[in-house]
Amino acid sequence: MKEQVKKVVVIGGGITGLTTTYYLQKIINEQKLPMEVILLEATHKLGGKIQTHYQDGFVIEKGPDSFLERKTSAAELATDVGLGNKLVHNTAGKAYVLVKDQLHPMPTGAVMGIPTKIGPFLSTGLFSVQGKIRAMSDFVLPRSQSGGDQSLGHFFRRRLGDEVVENLVEPLLSGIYAGDIDQLSLMSTFPQFYRVEREHRSLIWGMKKTTPTQNRLNSKTQGKFLTLTGGLQTLVDAVEERIAPSSIIKGTKVEGIDHKGDGSYNLVLSNGENLQADSVVVALPHMALAELFPNTPYFQDIKEMQATSVATVAMAFDANDVEVTLDGTGFVVSRNSDYTITACTWTHKKWPHTTPDGKVLLRCYVGRASDEAVVDLSDVEIEKIVLDDLKVTMNIKAKPLFTVVTRWKNAMPQYTVGHKQRVEKMHQDVRMNLPGVFVTGSSFGGLGLPDCIDQGKQAVNDVLEYLKI
Ligand code: FAD
Repeated sequence: MKEQVKKVVVIGGGITGLTTTYYLQKIINEQKLPMEVILLEATHKLGGKIQTHYQDGFVIEKGPDSFLERKTSAAELATDVGLGNKLVHNTAGKAYVLVKDQLHPMPTGAVMGIPTKIGPFLSTGLFSVQGKIRAMSDFVLPRSQSGGDQSLGHFFRRRLGDEVVENLVEPLLSGIYAGDIDQLSLMSTFPQFYRVEREHRSLIWGMKKTTPTQNRLNSKTQGKFLTLTGGLQTLVDAVEERIAPSSIIKGTKVEGIDHKGDGSYNLVLSNGENLQADSVVVALPHMALAELFPNTPYFQDIKEMQATSVATVAMAFDANDVEVTLDGTGFVVSRNSDYTITACTWTHKKWPHTTPDGKVLLRCYVGRASDEAVVDLSDVEIEKIVLDDLKVTMNIKAKPLFTVVTRWKNAMPQYTVGHKQRVEKMHQDVRMNLPGVFVTGSSFGGLGLPDCIDQGKQAVNDVLEYLKI
């Protein structure tokens, strides 16, 4: 009798869904498992938020531009698909903070804004004397009594005081999530700081003890991030090339999922067809997930999760037209200052491979929690606002050769206080009531590219365990 082939459908062709499809298909082929995998993507292009724009020799990332080397799964995936020799580190260099109208170098030894070297912290112009004295009370303050989750703002303000938080910690930490640190969950974003306080009581002392010396001294040679010389789009393309074309369906949105009596699932597709599946991996942003199951209560909390809109603004110039006199790779902007941009990377310095000789590439962010209206302005208006902000810190003598504005509406999921518990509750409900469905991706277990890849790989294990093949 012919063995029955089990069908796994992966919904969403961002990096999470691509990872699941690629590694699952690899195992199916290597172990000759009686399974098939189909990836469904609503748009005509894979990669989701990974999008690289190529123009006049520039390599411009519209979304993510790199990933943390320390979290190894992204470099591993690149190597697995033959791009190991295209991985490149960022140039390590000074980063700055824009406060009022001045760029201040990040104090040497600051790790995510937390001082680990006292000399540079005391001599920086970033904080007032009172602000510095308040931060030093971290050495004597007791541990927090809070055993559960708390906001990043609550945690850091208590340990280091408002000024250090607002001028340094906030622009660094909230930039990653485009969020409000007084709402973001400590345990879902940076639980390591909670652990440092538990173990060492003082955050400054604990970070000094636990951070490798090389990181504290802001190593001059090699940065902590990696990207691909041809742009992150090449990772998407290489993964896609290694998945059987018959396993990828693009331009087809999943509009609903019904749990059938026999335990399988019926997927309703935007092309009017239906697809049956024995197991389903949903690798979608949380808003899209909730739409697929309108009549189940398990996604209620997830539906209410907020997401912030941002835009990236990349500007190409002739080198003669822009003076970036400072040595370094860019700056973040303090919330206390009256600017619309939240960060600017001197991309030609941080990632030299992206920019032809004799040119300059600047990449800025606009939009953040409770300040998102700018994202809806026209390209021309956004370009003007960004240029006006940049002129405070740089001598810009001519208009950009070209500008690429990319809007990311509701693209940054907000991991607010209690996120971990809500996600765990959702997984429990899904396990009990929708067996064989696995929910994964950036809205849930981490939004960095390596976190998404880890989650995509975990979904492979979950599917194999569920189907027990
Ligand atoms: P997505 O990329 O959102 O993919 C989901 C896919 O599902 C999309 O292709 C979508 O079209 C599809 N889809 C939606 N609904 C349906 C449906 N009903 N049926 C079928 N398909 C559907 N991370 C880093 O590590 N480093 C960075 O430098 C970095 N910078 C960032 C900058 C920006 C501007 C943004 C927005 C994010 C950044 N991130 C960064 C985060 C990272 O890019 C994302 O978390 C990650 O790419 C999300 O991948 P994903 O697969 O989970 O989701």
